[in-house]
Amino acid sequence: MNDSFVPCPHCGAEIKADAKFCRFCGSSEADGWAEEGDWSDDSEDFDYEEFVADNFGDSSANTQVSPGWRAVAVILLIVFGLGFLLLW
Ligand SMILES: [Zn+2]
Repeated sequence: MNDSFVPCPHCGAEIKADAKFCRFCGSSEADGWAEEGDWSDDSEDFDYEEFVADNFGDSSANTQVSPGWRAVAVILLIVFGLGFLLLW
């Protein structure tokens, strides 16, 4: 008997290491842990924290625009500004 637990590759919930499917999200070894199983009543067990972690990653890291995108925005602004001036 194997009692160790591993995170579900699909939803991250703890499932038995030898489990063939996840009882939380319904994904299974058979479909490569990629899809929800045909469990229709999943919503009652909806785990908000897991949902946030899955879709938004670390919540604290996503509250501000990443510096990379800010740099891109500034560069675009400069390029468009110069182009606008050259048109005059
Ligand atoms: Zn799962």
